[in-house]
Formats: sequence, structure tokens, C-alpha cells
Amino acid sequence: MADKRDYYEVLGVERSASDDAIKKAYRALAKKYHPDLHPGDQEAEAHFKEINEAYEVLSDNEKRKKYDAYGFAGVDPSYGAGDASGFGGFGGAGFGGGFQDFDLGSIFDSFFGGASGQQTRRNGPEKGSNLRATIPLSFEEAAFGCKKTIEISRVEKCNDCNGSGAAKGSTAETCQVCHGTGTVRTTQRTPLGAFTSSSPCTACHGTGKVIKNPCPTCRGQGAVRRKRKIEVNIPAGIDNEQTISLRGQGNAGANNGPNGDLYVTVTIRPHPIFTREGADVYCEVPISFTDAALGAELEVATIDGKVKYTIPEGTQTGTVFRLRGKGIPYLNSSRRGDHYVTVNVEVPRNLSNKQKDLLRQFSGQLKPENHTEENNKFFSKLKNFFEGK
Ligand SMILES: [Zn+2]
Ligand SMILES: [Zn+2]
Repeated sequence: MADKRDYYEVLGVERSASDDAIKKAYRALAKKYHPDLHPGDQEAEAHFKEINEAYEVLSDNEKRKKYDAYGFAGVDPSYGAGDASGFGGFGGAGFGGGFQDFDLGSIFDSFFGGASGQQTRRNGPEKGSNLRATIPLSFEEAAFGCKKTIEISRVEKCNDCNGSGAAKGSTAETCQVCHGTGTVRTTQRTPLGAFTSSSPCTACHGTGKVIKNPCPTCRGQGAVRRKRKIEVNIPAGIDNEQTISLRGQGNAGANNGPNGDLYVTVTIRPHPIFTREGADVYCEVPISFTDAALGAELEVATIDGKVKYTIPEGTQTGTVFRLRGKGIPYLNSSRRGDHYVTVNVEVPRNLSNKQKDLLRQFSGQLKPENHTEENNKFFSKLKNFFEGK
């Protein structure tokens, strides 16, 4: 039911149009697009139906009010709810009530190819609908890849009847009502005379076939809902919200059409110490004031485990070191990103009196060259400022 046009737009009238104006507009358009004037013209026929539908609602005060308030949902109960009109006997019966995680619309899509009301062929092969699933991964699983098994519920072709819906030893017969076409032409009488339009055959639900002796396994549906465990290969380097597509692992197609696909999206759980940006990993390491001043060999955690890294004398807080190639693999590549370590220098707390004395002595011996260049520049600017220069 995509792209359904607004009824007022269809009739070319204002929303405030009077009953008379609506009637007048309808008559003019109905004359123009009457199928008798356009034999075999599908577009004119569709247009004519659209005009009639619009008029049916807008000429009825009650319906018009509901339409004004709620749009199509107010006048057509099937609108927006997976359009199940004409298929009332179908839902649930054949599938053991496995609809809880399943959009009703898609089962019709997978069997009949699109919502009813669209003039699609209903008895030709149709690709099955796609399925979606999500797999949560740990930081490391995403980095190095893994195998995951997920359970999905999908529509599969019934093996017992090979999708025909007819019990063993019998076959589906051509529908006598529509002669196998899946559509019927109906004649409507209007003040402007009789005209015909086509709609899906209700006797065979548009399939063109009638099953007298239904397959007991699928109850004539030709398909069954099954739970399946699917193994998914997660490639190393996959990132959050990326999707893997598994061709043909979705719902079965109708009339021997191909299966739909399965789309698996991964979500990566946060890591307690690492963060990730693309293929690069970031972490922070606290270092002592003395290690920062004297230099030290640090043990840095990477996704490969502990790595030794020597920081030089006089390392400042906030300095970032790069460990090349210690990050996450690029997808489908042997190259890897980098691991970045930010060091945070800790200022010692709860010093004893003796430690404080030592620090004061130490501080008294500091010379300009013990400070960073930035620090010295800052203090000379400060000095100038106070001296009014
Ligand atoms: Zn069957
Ligand atoms: Zn039929």
C-alpha cells in the first residue's frame, strides 16, 4: 500500500470542499477515466479505482470525518497493519503460533509478493523476505573474529510436499474461479453505469491454485516455520553496528522463488580499559611522578596481552605513545591498526612529613632547565604581566 494518494488530492478538491463540490469533481474524473473509454489501459483502470475509493470515503460524512482525523488508518482497518485483507484464514493456522517475533506483513510478502491491493502477480516466483538478527560481541571477539551460533525462526519450504501444499499422491488443482490467474474481474454498478475492475481471487488467495487434499505437515501452506541454528563467521576487525549478510538464509520464497537473506548486525560490548576508533585502540596508563621524571619500563596492556614499553626521562602527563601494529586488524587484511597509550602522571598524596621535607629540598634545587619550555615561557609571560610590560 505504498504511495497511496490523499483522497482530496485524488479528487483534486480542497479539504474544505462541500459535498456538492466533491460530487462534481468525482463525476468529471469518473467520466474521464471510465474503463469503457480506455479499454485495456491498466493505468486508467487503476486511476478509476482510486477515484471511486476516494469518493466512497469523502461522500460519506462519517467516513470523511474519520479520514480527516486519522488518515487512511481511520477508514481502512488493514492500512498500516501489514494489509492482511482477503487472507483472513491464513494467519497463524499453519505456523503453530510462531508469530511473536514476526511481522505478519512479511509472511504475506514472502508468500504472495507484496501487500494485497497492489496489482502484483501472485502466482509467479517471489523472493522470500529477509530476516534480521543481532549478535553481541566482546571487544576481543570483534578484534580477532570468531564463530557464533544464533537461533532464528524462519519460513522454510515444506519438504513433505516440496512446497506444493498438496498431500502426497495429490496435486494442487487450478482454481476454477479465476482459472489459475489469481485475479478476478468484478463488475461494479455506479450511477455512471457498470464497469469492471480486477482484484485478487479470494477463492485461492491469489495463488491460482486450490488444494483439495492439503499436506498434513504444512496444512496446505507449502511452507513451515522452523527454528534453525545458524553458524555465523565473524571476521576479525568487524566494528560496532556492521552487518554481515548471509545469502539465502532468510524466509523461503513463494512459488519456488529464491530464499530471502539473513542480515546479522553486531554490537560490541564496551571494554573496561580499551576504547576503539576504527582499527586503533586507545587506553590510559597511570604512572608515578618519579617514573615520569626518571623514565621507566612500563607494562602496557594491549589486545595481544602485556607489552613492555620504555618511557623516556621527563615524560609529561597526557603524553601519547603509539605502539605500531598492536591495534585491531583491518577487515579482510593482514594489516593492523595501532595501540595508543596516554600516560597520566599521578601526583603523590598523603605524604609523610619526611617525604614532604625531601620534596621541599628537591623543589628548592629546581633550575629553569628542569622545567618544560612551555612552563618557562608561561612564567616569563606571567612575570612580564605583573611588572606591567
Ligand atoms: Zn507440505
Ligand atoms: Zn482463484
